[in-house]
Amino acid sequence: MADSSLNPYLRAQQAFKEAVDTLGLEPAVYEILKQPLRSFEVAVPFIRDDGNLQVFNGYRVQHNDALGPTKGGLRFHTAVNMDEVKALAMWMSVKCALLGLPYGGAKGGIACDVDQLSDHELERLSREYIRAVSLVIGPDKDIPAPDVSTNPQIMAWMVDEYSRIRGENTFGLITGKPMVIGGSAGRVAATGRGLVFATKQLATELGIDFAKSQIAIQGFGNVGSVAADIAYAMGAKVLAISDKDGGLYNPSGINIPELLEYQRVHRFLTGFPGAEPISNEELLELPVDILFPAALENQITADNAGKIRARIVGEGANGPTTPEADRILFDKGIMVIPDVLGNSGGVTVSYFEWVQNQTRFYWSEDEVNRRLEEYMSRAMAEMHTMHERFGVTLRKAAYLVAVERIAQAMRYRGWLK
Ligand code: NAD
Repeated sequence: MADSSLNPYLRAQQAFKEAVDTLGLEPAVYEILKQPLRSFEVAVPFIRDDGNLQVFNGYRVQHNDALGPTKGGLRFHTAVNMDEVKALAMWMSVKCALLGLPYGGAKGGIACDVDQLSDHELERLSREYIRAVSLVIGPDKDIPAPDVSTNPQIMAWMVDEYSRIRGENTFGLITGKPMVIGGSAGRVAATGRGLVFATKQLATELGIDFAKSQIAIQGFGNVGSVAADIAYAMGAKVLAISDKDGGLYNPSGINIPELLEYQRVHRFLTGFPGAEPISNEELLELPVDILFPAALENQITADNAGKIRARIVGEGANGPTTPEADRILFDKGIMVIPDVLGNSGGVTVSYFEWVQNQTRFYWSEDEVNRRLEEYMSRAMAEMHTMHERFGVTLRKAAYLVAVERIAQAMRYRGWLK
């Protein structure tokens, strides 16, 4: 078999194949799931501020829609390419099915460098992308959302452009919008909050009292800082935390509200008086109950996995643990909450946003958070059951839950014969 470790598309295919084989499903399930149902590559022409026309490559991939319309983010990045978008769409199918959302997976983006674009150019490019894919997206077809280098403002331009094309306000087209035009309460904090919900549940199963637990967190951005803040409010001790500038350590626990205020003023964490410096490597290897990698991919590798001393690794970031490291942690008895579940709070509240748009009835933040906990908790329990039934990692168990659900939908719909 070709070395699949470098190509994310081949890696995604391999994970689906393993899941189909482990579940003993009919080969037709893999034949359908091994590639997206639809992959679109579009030319996105737009006028630069200097009056010249430039054409960027845009993508939208819809992996599988057996469970419902497809859903997935839009990424603006120079490295965006078809294989990556396909892999990310497949991964979204797993996330949506695992969480029990009535969606299939999708992904899209434009190969571009946002740092080279003015605000006006970014707006024109965002609108042109929507024109280019408007035939294949829609609130009942395929619903985009923010991802790397896209944000609520970009979602707002996109929903506006689509609404102009349709001749009616169509807020359900896209999620991650500003609140005033159909965004959901609780959306910004959803990923960090969901990570804490999932981890608390696993901790309880392992006999660890989350409210008394000791935590180390890599990354203090949208995911890491929210997880730190909520965990602190629940009584847990955050012993160490880092950003790209450096790490902080306090064996008695860091005061997170004070750190958030320090970050607001100083931008980075370095120099915070309530803790001492710590390196990234030291942070990852601390003897804590819970470790949240919430910054970058490939942080726990074959080189350091043997030195990890946390009892639970809750993946906030995408792909922070390499496959070799996963095996080492499994052998050491360290439970890894996989990214497909650990950071799925964002897509879950995106689903709530879409439901609110479709019904035109908006929920309070408490309502959003209560339902988020319900969804995370159910997915955790289903994943755990598969983990025990097949003796596999939680990551593989997540794929088993998802693939079984998608296969069931395809079977009922008559796609497998
Ligand atoms: P962000 O840009 O808000 O924050 C990233 C944080 O990581 C920052 O504090 C940054 O300083 C820190 N960081 C960067 N390099 C680091 C390094 N070498 N060592 C330590 N810290 C470092 O990003 P985010 O939205 O919090 O996303 C973090 C991860 O979670 C990414 O992998 C992202 O794909 C994933 N994720 C985010 C969401 C979401 O809703 N924001 C949803 C799903 C997945």
